[in-house]
Amino acid sequence: MKPAKRLQNLPPYLFAELDRAKKKLRDEGADIIDLSIGDPDMEPPAQLKQYLADALNTPEIHRYPSYAGCPEFRKAVSDWMSKRHDANVDPDGEVLGLIGAKEGIVHFVMATINEGDMVVTPSPGYPPYIHATILAGGKTHEFPLTPDTDFQPDFDAVPADVWKKAKILFLNYPNNPTSATATRETFEKAIELARKYDFIVVNDAAYIDVASPDDLPLSILAVPGAKDVAIEFHSLSKTFNICGWRIGWCAGNKDIVGLVGRFKESVDSGAFTAIQHACAKGMATLEDHIVGMQGIYMTRREAITKQLSLMGLQVLRSNAGFYVWAKLPSGKSTDFCTNLLEKAHVAATPGLGFGKHGEGYVRFSLTASTERIGEAIERMAKL
Ligand code: PLP
Repeated sequence: MKPAKRLQNLPPYLFAELDRAKKKLRDEGADIIDLSIGDPDMEPPAQLKQYLADALNTPEIHRYPSYAGCPEFRKAVSDWMSKRHDANVDPDGEVLGLIGAKEGIVHFVMATINEGDMVVTPSPGYPPYIHATILAGGKTHEFPLTPDTDFQPDFDAVPADVWKKAKILFLNYPNNPTSATATRETFEKAIELARKYDFIVVNDAAYIDVASPDDLPLSILAVPGAKDVAIEFHSLSKTFNICGWRIGWCAGNKDIVGLVGRFKESVDSGAFTAIQHACAKGMATLEDHIVGMQGIYMTRREAITKQLSLMGLQVLRSNAGFYVWAKLPSGKSTDFCTNLLEKAHVAATPGLGFGKHGEGYVRFSLTASTERIGEAIERMAKL
């Protein structure tokens, strides 16, 4: 069966070789410590599971959900955005419930660009921005995120010609893979450029709540003028350790949110209402869980950062998300990861997988238990 052209156009899967090596070692009985995946090891809060169990017995909850998200969920999102992120969004029209940020991002691109349109994306970056653009027939221009600009975009380095053709600018703060957070100037400049050249700014904020409440990363929707040109994607996958539940939202400019909603109506039927109800309650009551979770990630981050520094890798300091982005002294990221896997049985992600500007870096994910991370550190020290 020949795949459709849009599928053929997708880039090859870069980690196939490493995945094969991981599987082979596992089949041979090796004890692999996997620090390559962005899926939390910790359980969802017990109270959240109870809310879901309670919701399952609500009459009519098992019917089709509402496309836009149920009113309780959209209201909880609006309250959460204003309380935590200093952003005012109307639950009726400026918030759309999603079956996860990933699906939402793809739907958003499909809903807003035409063939040949330009999408400006970060490199290194989360692969779905590019994949969605290819599926929609668009073209990408990748801008580098490097330590020279503290992993903020250098907008001036993007040619004016690209800005003139741009339909979408993707930002992702807190960032995967680097964990950098946005400066206010980054968002202000993006909004100014979007006004000047008439494109949409998107901030993918999937990790914004994996952070201490005393030091919450900035939401683009807290910046004046953002709602004229921007939307932001949010996810509860990492906030509540519920990647498998599939729930998130986008919020911001009413017209853009509306377009995503129109596309979604043709593709999916909304997140399960019981999950929306449980999460609406969780968002109102589970602040303590987030504080505890962040503390655990910080302990893990400190430990691994110390070891990587001893190994001669430079690590970006951050208080957000659960990735550690480390610069190799020399060599290719895939060689480093293959060596680490084969000799220490520790899996990490080569930076090249996030785009050409990720080469020379490695991403470690803090999503193994603190004991396992401790053991990975010991193995790396020996190596
Ligand atoms: N955005 C970024 C930057 C991510 O890294 C991920 C998941 O790894 C997502 C979005 C996906 O979030 P969700 O689980 O809500 O689809």
